[in-house]
Parts: sequence; structure tokens; C-alpha cells
Amino acid sequence: MQFEAGQEFARKLDREDPLARFRDEFSIPTQANGSPEIYLCGNSLGLQPRRARDYVNQELDKWAALGVKGHFDCDFPWMPYHEFLAEASADLVGAQTDEVVVMNSLTVNLHLMMVSFYRPTKQRYKIVIEDHAFPSDHYAVESQLRYHGIDPADGLLLLKPRAGEDLLRFDDIAALIEEQGDSIALMLLPGVQYYTGQVLPMAELAELAHRHGIRIGLDLAHAVGNIPLQLHDWNVDFACWCSYKYLNSGPGSVAGCFVHRRHAQNTDLPRFAGWWGHDKQTRFRMENRFQAIPTAEGWQLSNPPILSLAAIRASLDIYSEAGGMEPLRRKSEKLTAYLQFLLKREVNQYISIITPEDPEQRGCQLSLCCDAKHLSGRELFQRLEENGVTCDWREPNVIRVAPVPLYNRFEDIFRFVDILKTACNE
Ligand SMILES: *Cc1c(COP(=O)(O)O)cnc(C)c1O
Repeated sequence: MQFEAGQEFARKLDREDPLARFRDEFSIPTQANGSPEIYLCGNSLGLQPRRARDYVNQELDKWAALGVKGHFDCDFPWMPYHEFLAEASADLVGAQTDEVVVMNSLTVNLHLMMVSFYRPTKQRYKIVIEDHAFPSDHYAVESQLRYHGIDPADGLLLLKPRAGEDLLRFDDIAALIEEQGDSIALMLLPGVQYYTGQVLPMAELAELAHRHGIRIGLDLAHAVGNIPLQLHDWNVDFACWCSYKYLNSGPGSVAGCFVHRRHAQNTDLPRFAGWWGHDKQTRFRMENRFQAIPTAEGWQLSNPPILSLAAIRASLDIYSEAGGMEPLRRKSEKLTAYLQFLLKREVNQYISIITPEDPEQRGCQLSLCCDAKHLSGRELFQRLEENGVTCDWREPNVIRVAPVPLYNRFEDIFRFVDILKTACNE
């Protein structure tokens, strides 16, 4: 695609955008001067679908009108409410419906999955994560090691980029696995790295792990709703994601979890259990012999927070109406390529991009480092905020910018770069 400079070109791209109308499905925060923010922060908290309010209100109304009877015999009864989310969630991650469940929060699900899939033995007990893993993932893994009596200094293998580089290389990961594979029990890696925006080659990593008898789990916090995924075909063992980033389901909303069918059907797999994971036919006999549901639902603990699930349903309906990840990804690649084009053209001497240039190796996010001598990255970030741009700052030195195809316009990107350029040239 050939891009051109100038605001008129951005407007032309917006006019030609078949997904443009979805912006109206969202509430866009406004600046003090009344104009909409340039919101490029869907990687951190996705915007509110306007219909989320209706969906949540429906459940509040049902609660008011029906009390406990809201569990049955009404539209979207609470008893099976999570089931109404399974198909659309499965579509987003490339899974069978029975491999996916919406439950708990992301870090909780990581722990539950490690209880089942991190089963260290004397020979095979190490866990591979990246050196720059999201802190919560790092804490979860370290505490799992300690819980099993393993010193993280011995049991935790950290993947690092080469000196002077920002991105992980598959060959380096493969070399580590070749060298220490026999002692590794689990690899827990991101689909999209939160700091650099790098997409890891998930299919190849799963193949690599399994060839060495290693389990592989994915943290898809920055991947779900951002890039196409094929968890079932890639044969990933498990995956977890949150719903409040690209999935636009509200702060702290309930998370998602994938368990590959070949594991989910094994009801003897050790797990931390709760009554919502118990066979639906006999759950209310209130007997004390746990019988796991032979799907991902078998890891549920509690009856879920319906108000949160209602907001997720609102968001998933929009994804379905937009035609799923394929058209969204097409627009997303174009948005991000346009962003890259303008950055290189307008602020090349002040800004470097650490995210891969290859569209296959990135989602929508670009991570920018400020190289300007007269301005620190933090100062530049503040200038952006003062001028109506919402993006985010991540220590030590990155401004993350994520144009998302459901509600961002090409003109948002034009204006963002224009503001950035003015700030850099001050
Ligand atoms: C956002 C994010 C989290 C947040 O975890 P919660 O349990 O939802 O608070 C964890 N890990 C990664 C990689 C993230 O991007």
C-alpha cells in the first residue's frame, strides 16, 4: 500500500474503510475542550461499547424483577450465562467451543493452569519465561516454583534478547531448548510481547516445546482481539487472556482461558476444583464427589459475575458483527503501516520504533523510543497527553501507541503524528 502525507489522505482512507461505522459503537472520551481524545490506548484499556450499558442494565433489571429466578427461564439465564460467550471467544482464539471458558482473572487463570500443567519431577522441573515478562506472570511463575520447593535461581530460565537488541529471536529460544530441554517442564510465553509489541511464532514454539516433551502455555493479554490466533491447530496446551484490553469488556472484567481438547477431556487431570467445574447434570445434588466437566469449563471454580459477563457479551457481539478477526486484522495492518509511514516521514530523527517492521511479527501496537536530545521520553509523553492524546508510558523508555481497528480512524493517526512532530520540534 502506498501512503501519502497530509490530512486529506487520512480522511480518504477513513472514507474507504469498510469498518468505519464501528467507531460509533463506542464511547470516545472527550478532552476538556470538548473534542474527542485521540485514544491510542486500547492495549491497556479498551473503550466502552455503547451497548455494554444496555446489556448490563438488562441483567440489573432481571435481578430486580426476578430475583433468584433469573438463573432460569428468561432471556440469557444466569445459570448457563458463560456458555453464551464460548463460541465467540473460541472464534477469536481459533479454538473449538469446548476448549474455551470465560472465568476469573488472567493471573488467577495462569495459576490454575500451572496447577494442572506444571507438574515438576526431579529431572524435569524448569520453567521458561522471558526476562522481560509482565511482572504478574513473573510473580505467578516464581511463586509456583517456590510452591513446589524449587529455587527460582535454579528453576527459572529467562529468555533475553541479544545484547543491544530488543526482540527475541526464535533461534536463540530453540538453542536454549536444545541445550536444556530435558530439564524443562513448561514454557510460558506471550503471544504479543507487551513492551515491544513483538509477536512470537506461536505455532513453531508449540512444535519446538512438544518435540522436547515440554508443555507450552501462552499469555494472550496483548494478542487476543489484536491478531489472528489458531490455538487448537497450533496444539498449544493452554492459554489465558484478559478481556479489558483489546476485548473492550471493562476494567477488571472476567478473563478467558483455553485448554486444548486433548487435555480438557481428561477429567483425571489434577486441578484446583470448585463446584462450577463439576458436571452440570449432578451439580445440584450437592454430593461431595467431584466429577469434572470434560471441557475447559471443568476448571471453573465459582458461579461467575454476571454483570461483567454481560459487558463481555456486548463486546463479543461487536466483534461478530464486524466479521471476526480477518477483516479487523486487514484494517489493523493498514492502520499500523500508516502510523509507521508517518513516523518515519515526520519524526525519524527523534523517534525510533522497537516493534518489528514485518507485519507478521507485530499486532497493532508500535513501541516508540524517544531519541531527542532536548526532550526525555517521559516529557514527550506528557506533551502528548496535554494535547489530547491518550497512549501509555512504560518504564524504562517506551511510549506504546496502539491504533485499534474497531474504533480508531486514520485521521487519529494523522493527528497523533502531527502533535508528536510539534512536540519534538518545540
Ligand atoms: C495486562 C496483563 C496482565 C494483567 O493481569 P491481571 O490478572 O488481569 O491483572 C498480566 N499479564 C500480561 C502479560 C498482561 O499484559
